Amino acid sequence: MASLSRTTIGAGDADRALRDRAAQVIPGGMYGHMATTLAPPRAPQFYARAEGCRLWDADGRDYVDLLSAYGPNLLGYGEPRVLAAARAQMEVCDTTSGPSGLMVELAEAMVARIADAQWAMFCKNGSDATGMAVMIARAATGRRRILTARNSYHGAQPWCTPRPVGVLPEERAHIAHFDYNDLEGLEAAVADAGEDLAAIILTPHRHETFEDQVDVDAAFARRVRALADRSGALLILDEVRTGFRLAAGGAWEGLGVAPDLTCWGKVLGNGQPISAVTGGARAREAAGSVFVTGSFWFSAAPMAAALEVMAQVAEGGYLARLQSAGRRLREGLAEQAGRHDFPLTQSGPAAMPLFRFEDDADLRRIYRFCDVAIANGALLSPYHNMFTNAAMTPADIDRVLEATEAAFRDLRARNADLPPVPAPVAARLAAMAR
Ligand code: PMP
Repeated sequence: MASLSRTTIGAGDADRALRDRAAQVIPGGMYGHMATTLAPPRAPQFYARAEGCRLWDADGRDYVDLLSAYGPNLLGYGEPRVLAAARAQMEVCDTTSGPSGLMVELAEAMVARIADAQWAMFCKNGSDATGMAVMIARAATGRRRILTARNSYHGAQPWCTPRPVGVLPEERAHIAHFDYNDLEGLEAAVADAGEDLAAIILTPHRHETFEDQVDVDAAFARRVRALADRSGALLILDEVRTGFRLAAGGAWEGLGVAPDLTCWGKVLGNGQPISAVTGGARAREAAGSVFVTGSFWFSAAPMAAALEVMAQVAEGGYLARLQSAGRRLREGLAEQAGRHDFPLTQSGPAAMPLFRFEDDADLRRIYRFCDVAIANGALLSPYHNMFTNAAMTPADIDRVLEATEAAFRDLRARNADLPPVPAPVAARLAAMAR
């Protein structure tokens, strides 16, 4: 293993200067999931360069990036074929007075790739896709009630944002919840909705922040389908985070459970802004009836990028690369945790790593661990599942493991003397305990 060129780094001068300026002109200094309020203290806020699985912060320090842009980085930042396709299209036409023929080609490519898809509609963000799917389901059924798994993230629109500040109760009046994998709870929620059930929306597995990931129970997935059918509601699968990362088609194809609508985003353009809803026969007419649009929804360059992503998904080699990167990381971490005698829990698919310590209710240990790993050049999250990508080589994972080795050594040396977690994290934990 090559030794690291540094031992500790922190938010540097350039990052600090940008944060100070941001505090003047950007409300709160930063907002949304990219604000570093929940991150370990030495996580940079601003970045200057990206390539493959590497990121350089505003101070020029480089990291192996396990966050992968919170999902969009599937094939590597600046993957040459995707970049070339987007660039070439940008030279010809991008945002114009109408879509290009690429839109039809892309819809055809998605229909060919996804077993239960007969049509596709495109938008920009995952929230656009989930919001559109909910509208289509209501249009298709003429009903109001939407069932979601408690605390599941489906985006930042009023109907589903996890922090409903500035949202009226009326905007969520017809949203109700069940617990993921809880058959009885789901049945009760469906019974309560009665004739008013428009849709059940859920993710292929449970991947919420500050929790272990949980696989879907196959019997539960089949029951969701059966209950939707029995009550005349639609089943929406939110694959915004999982799409094409765990399988080269739909995540539930292996279970034999076909959703009526599926939401895609994040990886679809490998970082170019594009998301989609695909669907089957039951929702086609309603999908054609809702008014959904946006100035940039028909732009051609992200569609060119997405077509190239679909081509690489069809070739298939990317999946083995990102999965083996995930397995190498998982095995390396397990070995280190055992050797240093720390009880580490790793959950979810290897390509979406998440690790936590047992006996760490206040999260001090995992926060310190990730903070030291970041300071040693591995960008990790203590609260959000991470993502491997196809640009990660064994040497990149070994570099991450060097950083985590330093983090384990730090934990051993500090023993119980761990700094408190950032105040917003403590507040979040207190709210979860209520
Ligand atoms: N659904 C899921 C499952 C997600 O993970 C996300 C984003 N993390 C969204 C929807 C919303 O996507 P976006 O941030 O692109 O609006």
